[in-house]
Amino acid sequence: MRIDILTLFPKMCEAVLGESIVGRARKNGCIDIRTRQIRDYTQDKHGRVDDAPYGGGMGMIMQPQPIYDCFQSLCEETGARPKLIYLSPQGKVLTQQMVKELAAEPHLALLCGHYEGVDERLLEEIVDEEISIGDYVLTGGELPALVLCDAVARMQPGVLSGDACFTDESHFDGLLEYPQYTRPPVWRGRAVPDVLLSGHHANIDAWRHEQSLLRTEAKRPDLYAAYLNERDEGKR
Ligand code: SAM
Repeated sequence: MRIDILTLFPKMCEAVLGESIVGRARKNGCIDIRTRQIRDYTQDKHGRVDDAPYGGGMGMIMQPQPIYDCFQSLCEETGARPKLIYLSPQGKVLTQQMVKELAAEPHLALLCGHYEGVDERLLEEIVDEEISIGDYVLTGGELPALVLCDAVARMQPGVLSGDACFTDESHFDGLLEYPQYTRPPVWRGRAVPDVLLSGHHANIDAWRHEQSLLRTEAKRPDLYAAYLNERDEGKR
């Protein structure tokens, strides 16, 4: 899978994308994530990419031309049109289900806004979907784009040590993950549950599933209600 991040701050993205599991996945070819500097495509002789809003108001608006040309050059280079996502606080809030669907796309382009955002006409002209990472406002779309890249990258074959690394985790099947423990068996008087030391895999699986249900009900009653509904409808 390939992801291109269209941004005014590629170094900010590269700093994160070169590290840890995603950095390794890029190096060994499990995922191809690139950055594209929007400013390289401006026709303004001073390199400007933004201007004041029509109608007045605070801040600057990113102009449509540099972003449009940046995206067109990507399409020409690859000979195809990737799905273009604009990271925006006005978008649909990202969920694990959306991540699963995005992870199956062959090629995504992520547009990072900055300042007060992007000229609306550009969004109407080329953006396929708007995605938010939560109901709060950040200074730019780079961190949200990196969140999306990370979530999508870990679902690519070969990035984690096995599929269970993500299928067992919170949100994959609508529930939160069961509690996890490691050595030592007793810490500050708190013992690891006996069943986990028993070596009895069926009992461990049953205990973990029960714990997932209990903690989802306690911590996220909204998710628990949705899970029960889907189970009653035979979807789980
Ligand atoms: N004026 C915009 C509004 O009120 O909807 C907010 C612009 S915000 C200051 C600048 C950029 O940060 C946006 O264009 C977007 O790319 C990004 N951004 C901010 N918050 C975000 C969020 N919660 N999810 C995704 N992107 C976000």
